[in-house]
Amino acid sequence: MANKDVTDPVRMEKIVSLCKRRGFIFQAGELYGGLNGCWDYGPLGAELKRNLKDYWWRKTVQERDDVLGMDGAILTMEEVLKSSGHIGGFSDPMSTCHQCKKHVRFDQLRTMVAESEWAQSLAAVMTVTHPGDPAGVTVDGETLKRWGRKEGKKLAPGLALVRTPDVTLSFFLEEAARHQPMDPWYFTQLMATEQFAQTGAVNPCPHCGGVLTEPKQFNLMFQTNFGATGDDIAYLRPETAQSIFCQYKNILDSNRVKLPFGIAQIGKSFRNEVNPRNYIFRSREFEQMEIEYFCRPEDGMRLTDEWLETRLCFYEEIGIPREKLHILDVPDGDRAFYSKKTYDIEYEFPFGIQELEGVAYRTDYDLGVHAKGSGRPLEYFDEETKERFIPHVVEPSAGCDRTILALICEAFDEEELGKDGKSDVRTVMRFMPSMAPIKLAIFPLLKKNEEQVRIAREIQKQLQPWMNVFYDDGGAVGRRYRRQDEVGTPFCVTIDFETLGEEDPALKGTVTIRHRDSMEQERIAIDDLLPWLLARVR
Ligand SMILES: [Zn+2]
Repeated sequence: MANKDVTDPVRMEKIVSLCKRRGFIFQAGELYGGLNGCWDYGPLGAELKRNLKDYWWRKTVQERDDVLGMDGAILTMEEVLKSSGHIGGFSDPMSTCHQCKKHVRFDQLRTMVAESEWAQSLAAVMTVTHPGDPAGVTVDGETLKRWGRKEGKKLAPGLALVRTPDVTLSFFLEEAARHQPMDPWYFTQLMATEQFAQTGAVNPCPHCGGVLTEPKQFNLMFQTNFGATGDDIAYLRPETAQSIFCQYKNILDSNRVKLPFGIAQIGKSFRNEVNPRNYIFRSREFEQMEIEYFCRPEDGMRLTDEWLETRLCFYEEIGIPREKLHILDVPDGDRAFYSKKTYDIEYEFPFGIQELEGVAYRTDYDLGVHAKGSGRPLEYFDEETKERFIPHVVEPSAGCDRTILALICEAFDEEELGKDGKSDVRTVMRFMPSMAPIKLAIFPLLKKNEEQVRIAREIQKQLQPWMNVFYDDGGAVGRRYRRQDEVGTPFCVTIDFETLGEEDPALKGTVTIRHRDSMEQERIAIDDLLPWLLARVR
């Protein structure tokens, strides 16, 4: 089992930088300082996302007999979300910092503090002082005071140790004497505490070290005014699932389907996350790819396992290898109360192992609450057994943006090609051809050669109805290859003098095709190019 806390911030930094430089992903509203937790996909990111969504749709809807698609409204009625439990229940515990006023998700506090610069700097002092005691910390007051005056002042101005060192240290030394060795989290709490006798140890703000308020529930939904007078209320949907449940009966009646069958949807959802973080991983506006699979009660557990396997295969097909995925069988108590089984499919991101998709057996909870809330019957009538019952639901729910990020993280590679002690690093995005934003780059060897340019443009026109291709005549061919490697284009063709039949008449009408990963080249007839590519990029 891989360690959840193993991270590679340097790699993540490089990935984020490439994504901006090459036009995959930008921060929304960056021109005006940025809208926190929202992202815009640039030209290449939009192609990548489209490829992922198209492939998901093809595998989930088009190639199956038992799943139908739908596309629901984003604006959602209050009644729907009351029945589903989102109004009144859909919130995270949240604290506010007394010093810097930032909001912090309480359930993520320890991780955020552990990742903060000030806590790491403080931890470094402890290590220096007491080697050989990794379980606990025992630090002397002088070292802490010195840290507070120097690093602490810069990194954690809100920390009690920095603001009121003498008061904090007075009770800290007493506590330290009593707890030997001291638990590192308790130590961190004490450093944030001003009035120990009155408050006990308090929780520190991950941003400035200040004192956090007690956690309160925080509603994650975006509410909006609706109607001509704006007096009515609607919500931006927090998940795509609810429109599927609400249209279940209409789809059943209008399509003559029988259990088991699924309804699939791809679309935007919105949650006012308290701490959007890890790039596009946790954002306030995001896209989901969800299936609600309706079945007989006795089939629910089996179908949950089958869907897990189906979804794992999907990730493998798009280029996320099975060994980088982890399956968390969510234990009793951590699952939603109505769920009998939930698997989280997690991926090894550079910032830790995090969830890509949940496969949940939701029993008859969803249709049950909507039948009750709407007062309309949502039972299924089985013609053969003459039974009437509320179908159970298995829900594979994937995050589109999270999968995009996993694809990008998985594809990113730096290959050392240097010879004779000279370093030459090739940055290459090893996307599967089916996911790659550009399928083929087309180069005339010389941009001044009219015949080469004419043929290159012809190939471009011929392929454009079938796939996204890119024409480039700028600079040396080697440099053009590198630019395509960096955005993950799997193939490049060059139209050269041999294409014109100038060197060997047998090669007239052929082009050089170069493979991104192996960098090998072969010659192929222009007439064979389209079927050759279609066999590889779909
Ligand atoms: Zn703070």
